[in-house]
Amino acid sequence: MSEHLMNTYARMPVAMERGEGAWLWDSEGNRYLDAVSGLGVTALGHAHPRVTETIADQAGKLIHTANLFQIPWQEALADRLADVSGLDRAFVCNSGTEAVECALKIIRLAGHERGIDTPGVIVMDGSFHGRTLAALSATGSRKAQAGFEPLVSGFVRVPFNDIDAIEKVADRDPSITAVLVEPIQGEAGIQVPDADYLGRLRSICNRRGWLLACDEIQSGLCRSGHWYAHQHEDVVPDILTTAKALANGLPIGACLARGAAAELLSPGRHGSTFGGNPLVCRTACTVLDVMREEGLADRAAQLGERILTGFREALGGLPLVTDIRGRGLMIGIELDRPATALKDQALEQGLVINVTREKVIRLLPPLILEEPEADRIVETVSGLVRGLAD
Ligand SMILES: *Cc1c(COP(=O)(O)O)cnc(C)c1O
Repeated sequence: MSEHLMNTYARMPVAMERGEGAWLWDSEGNRYLDAVSGLGVTALGHAHPRVTETIADQAGKLIHTANLFQIPWQEALADRLADVSGLDRAFVCNSGTEAVECALKIIRLAGHERGIDTPGVIVMDGSFHGRTLAALSATGSRKAQAGFEPLVSGFVRVPFNDIDAIEKVADRDPSITAVLVEPIQGEAGIQVPDADYLGRLRSICNRRGWLLACDEIQSGLCRSGHWYAHQHEDVVPDILTTAKALANGLPIGACLARGAAAELLSPGRHGSTFGGNPLVCRTACTVLDVMREEGLADRAAQLGERILTGFREALGGLPLVTDIRGRGLMIGIELDRPATALKDQALEQGLVINVTREKVIRLLPPLILEEPEADRIVETVSGLVRGLAD
C-alpha cells in the first residue's frame, strides 16, 4: 500500500484487474463471484458490452463542456428519470452525497419560502446519507460523525420505522418542514420497514405541509424489485436522490423533485462543474435502457426470492443467525456475533461479500446474475456462516 494515500479504507488484500458479468479477476489471475457490485454500483455487471460501447463512442466525440451549453444527453437522462420515478425535474451531479446536498438545499429553500428561518428535517437512526458535512449531519451514525463537530444544525433524529416518534416531534417542533428517509436502509444492514411505513409518512407530510424526501441512492434503480423502493407502496416522494447504479460505475448522482419543490432552484443557486456531462449522462441513459429492456426489476425480485429462500433453508435453524431479510437483491444476514472475518474467508473461496454494522452480511449482487451464480452465493455464504457456529 502506498504511504501517499490517505488512510480512509480498510481494504481487502487483493487488487482486481478485470471483470466480466458477475465475475472479477485479480492481478494473480484468481476469479471471484462478485456479490457486492462495488457497493451496489455495477448493477449491469462488469464490462457490459452496451455500457463499454457507449463510453467508447462518446469519449471519442465529447466528454465535457460544463453546463455552459445545452447538453442533449443530460436532457434525455432527465426525461428518462422523470419517466421511471414519476417526479418532474432532475439536477445531475457526481455522487450520492451531492444528490443529498441538493435535496437538503431544496428543503431549506422551501422552508424559507414558508417563512421559517431555521427549517428542520426529521432524519432516522441508522441512516446513511453521505460524508460531506450536511449529509454527514443527516446521517444517523455517531461513529461516522465523531470528530467532525460542529455539525450542520437543523436535523432531528427519530428511530426508523416509528411513526409515533415522528408525530411527537411534529407536535413539539414547529420548525420541521421535511422528512428524509431511506425506503430500505442499506448501511444500517438492509432494514426493511413495515409495509405501510412510507404511506403513513406520506400522509403526515401531506397533513403538515412537509416535504417527503426519499434517499434511494442504494435502494433505487431496480435493485429492490421496482425502479424505486418507494414504489412497493403507492407513494410518490417530493424529492428523490438516486446515484450508485445510475451509470454502472461512472461517477454520477441526481436529485429529483416534483411540484413546487422542483421549481425552487434557479441560475446561481446551485451547480456543478463536472455534473451532467455528456459522457456520464449518455452512459446513464444506456443503463436505464438496458434495465428496462431486460426487465431487471422483475429479475431482481425473482433472484432475491430465490436467494432468501435458499438462505432460510440453509441457515434458518441456526441459533447464531438472528435474521435473514431483504427485498430484491438487497439482502442482509444478521448474526449474533461479529462477521467481519467472513469477508476475507469468502475471498479465499472466490466470493466477494460485504459486512456492515459488524454483524450483518450484506449482499448487493449485480442484477444480471444467473441462477447458478445465485445458488453459488447461497452455498458459499451458508458454509462460512456454519463454520462460525463450530
Ligand atoms: C452510498 C450512499 C450515499 C452516499 O453516496 P456516495 O456516492 O458515496 O456519495 C448516500 N445515501 C445512501 C442511502 C447510500 O447508500
